[in-house]
Amino acid sequence: MTGCVFCGIVDKRLKASIIYEDDFCLAFEDINPQAPVHFLVIPKRHIADVLEADKEIKGRLLEAATIVAREKGLADDGFRTVINCKRHAGQSVDHLHIHILGGRWFTWPPG
Ligand code: AMP
Ligand code: ZN
Repeated sequence: MTGCVFCGIVDKRLKASIIYEDDFCLAFEDINPQAPVHFLVIPKRHIADVLEADKEIKGRLLEAATIVAREKGLADDGFRTVINCKRHAGQSVDHLHIHILGGRWFTWPPG
């Protein structure tokens, strides 16, 4: 989609540190990491948020997220996954993405 930063990364018009790619998903390092490990998994197709995603893409995103989390060495100590949806959650990029954060302790409830 024109003007979408994450579509630009999918199209390779914009640079990102890509760590995983398959037919449906792309994973890359977050540009402003909030933990020692912080990457994003997105659908290659533009989907605005999780409300717009079908069952298949939801499954594929989570599958990719866990594959990369294991590769990053997060399986023993664990990690946090976050999907911000719309304004109350502070979604700032309107292209569906899962945050995967690890390498430190996280508090609950989140802010
Ligand atoms: P959210 O607030 O849930 O919409 O998260 C958007 C995330 O995208 C933030 O953590 C940003 O740091 C990250 N982000 C924005 N632009 C880029 C980019 N060009 N490359 C990598 N991460 C980005
Ligand atoms: Zn997009």
